[in-house]
Amino acid sequence: MSKVFFGNSGAEANECAIKLARKYAAKKKGPDCFTVVSLKNSFHGRTLTTLAATGQDHYHELFNPLTPGFVSVEPGDIAALKEIEAASGIAGVIFECIQGEGGVNVIDRAFLSELAEFAAEKDIVLIADEVQTGNGRTGRLYSYMGTPVTPDIITTAKGLGGGLPIGAAIMNEKLSGVFGFGDHGSTFGGNPVCCAGAITVIDRLDEAFLASVAEKGRILRKIFEGADGIESVRGEGLMIGLKTQKPAGEVVKQCLERGVMCLTAKDKVRLLPPLNTPEEILREAAEIIKAVCAEGTAD
Ligand SMILES: *Cc1c(COP(=O)(O)O)cnc(C)c1O
Repeated sequence: MSKVFFGNSGAEANECAIKLARKYAAKKKGPDCFTVVSLKNSFHGRTLTTLAATGQDHYHELFNPLTPGFVSVEPGDIAALKEIEAASGIAGVIFECIQGEGGVNVIDRAFLSELAEFAAEKDIVLIADEVQTGNGRTGRLYSYMGTPVTPDIITTAKGLGGGLPIGAAIMNEKLSGVFGFGDHGSTFGGNPVCCAGAITVIDRLDEAFLASVAEKGRILRKIFEGADGIESVRGEGLMIGLKTQKPAGEVVKQCLERGVMCLTAKDKVRLLPPLNTPEEILREAAEIIKAVCAEGTAD
């Protein structure tokens, strides 16, 4: 990667990436090639443009009309992508390697491989949205690093600032000359306080730390797999989705009453603990979650 744009959030990082893809395509293929394709069940942010990229209709309701030029396809449906390319051309494809808000869905590696091949053939800009998965969350620096795809742009935020508002769009050589003076900017982007926080986070993300995240994830998954009231366990590293017998919202509520904070993601219970949580505390929390899931279920 050769250039970074710093903003203040994940949505802003994605806005930057989308603008880059559109300008690249406009210059290379003409102004009619502006379509950006995303995947169903994705989440890319809450601004009107990143909502348009978000492939979940319920986020769109009552906010229409959104920014035009966005289409979403089912993960795995390379044929749909080819149809869009044939009809209108595609400027870029934005995707999460593991969909967070969409239910901790690990995108099929074979599809990512086909996507990479097709994008290379048609010179389509690939944007990996690593806002949730980046900065060690999955046990890798970025989640794409465990897949056959190499994106042109990586967007990241959440974990980067460890709580401070910072987002980044990181681009490769191909995109680094696309923006001219004044094309993009941010008043607070790249401010020294947030960047100092981000540098501290990045300095901690060495091989040993990433390995510890992967190991903690394995420990948690082992506790949950096959447990009463838990139907399936998904995710990588410390990004875990549980399909529970009880409604996810109920599990989250009951866990909170016992001092453990979880999230929902669609019908899943989603776990995103801080990466530096000591193993004993993770185990303790996991036992509480496991007990809550088991209570009141048939077997
Ligand atoms: C949270 C999230 C965003 C939006 O980030 P904000 O900082 O809330 O704007 C975008 N993409 C993904 C995958 C996210 O999880």
